[in-house]
Amino acid sequence: MADCKKIPYGRQSIDEQDLKAVADALNSGWLTTGPRVAEFERAVADMSGVAHGVAVNSGTAALHAAMYAFDVQKGDEVIVPPMTFAASANCVAYMGAAPVFADVDPRTLLIDPAEVEKKISSRTKGIIAVDYAGQPCDYSALREIADRHGLFLAADGCHSIGASLNGKCVGSLADITTYSFHPVKHMTTGEGGMAVTGNADYDKRMRVFRNHGITADFRQRDGWFYEMQDLGFNYRITDFQCALGLSQLSRLPEWIERRREIAAMYDKKFAAMEALSPLGRQAGAEHAYHLYVINLQGEKRSEKRKLLFDFLREHGLGVQVHYIPVHLHPYYKDNFGTHEGMCPVAESAYEGILSLPMFPLMEDGDVAYVVKTVEAALAENSA
Ligand SMILES: *Cc1c(COP(=O)(O)O)cnc(C)c1O
Repeated sequence: MADCKKIPYGRQSIDEQDLKAVADALNSGWLTTGPRVAEFERAVADMSGVAHGVAVNSGTAALHAAMYAFDVQKGDEVIVPPMTFAASANCVAYMGAAPVFADVDPRTLLIDPAEVEKKISSRTKGIIAVDYAGQPCDYSALREIADRHGLFLAADGCHSIGASLNGKCVGSLADITTYSFHPVKHMTTGEGGMAVTGNADYDKRMRVFRNHGITADFRQRDGWFYEMQDLGFNYRITDFQCALGLSQLSRLPEWIERRREIAAMYDKKFAAMEALSPLGRQAGAEHAYHLYVINLQGEKRSEKRKLLFDFLREHGLGVQVHYIPVHLHPYYKDNFGTHEGMCPVAESAYEGILSLPMFPLMEDGDVAYVVKTVEAALAENSA
């Protein structure tokens, strides 16, 4: 392997149109909480098929705002999957509530509705489903469980913006859906996020929460009056970030198309390899492919994954492992009594998974290089 390319697992795309949009915003005089924030919220809510969007300064802030909207309190439990980024569970802990981990489906690594059902107690307030890698969870099963037990259903859609399930787009499948606009996600605002919802009350609560808990109603009153009615945060996003977001959003459909093409190329090559298999697909899902995850098969997966990871890194491929199951982090063990063996499916998946490079700017030649390098690694490891 003579030519050593450098290919990360994900990378943003910034073009002239983006630069112009940001410059225009900076020149407009509105740096924050101006017209571009509302415009960006409108555009993302529209593409999500719901009435409201609340833009904030990270995907994590969007999750926190959602938990506030649902009035999650100390003593409550919220069911989350372990196969996700820590923020999906941290937002529950921020409220003084307890995340309860429900194991994932071994094929898709999406939260398993049967496991959710088993974790419901008298304290359960809601469910956060995570659209791991970019395909929607089984929302019809989750909705049925949530309704039967009077729970909220949130979607962490940080991987799945632009995906759909049985023709219904992500954003309209749960009570509140959150997105992240970190550079490694589908589209970026630098840092940023949004919570979208069809519920006007949740929308209102999240708007107050992102601005210190201060109500906006003061504008109708004396010039100086305002009231802080609850404890909120400064989770505001700037106008120039939203200008970037709007510009990026216009290219999202073509980017997702390209991600699907890359996934199809990988699928075709990996179908023939016994040593690994791509993740299974959720029935009825149109995948957005934030990640392309392979899972090593057979004996000694953990050792083989380490060899594969090192080989690919040595050959310039920025592969990653998504994720260390959240319940195995020391913070959760120490504060919530989680432990090994609690979510055996996620723990076993973690031994063998690897995320390969996946971003729209990858050329066909890059995809071929990744496949060739994986083949070379497997040949070396079995030798
Ligand atoms: C990226 C991500 C987040 C957090 O988003 P930030 O914008 O980085 O705060 C939350 N959940 C999942 C599943 C993510 O991938």
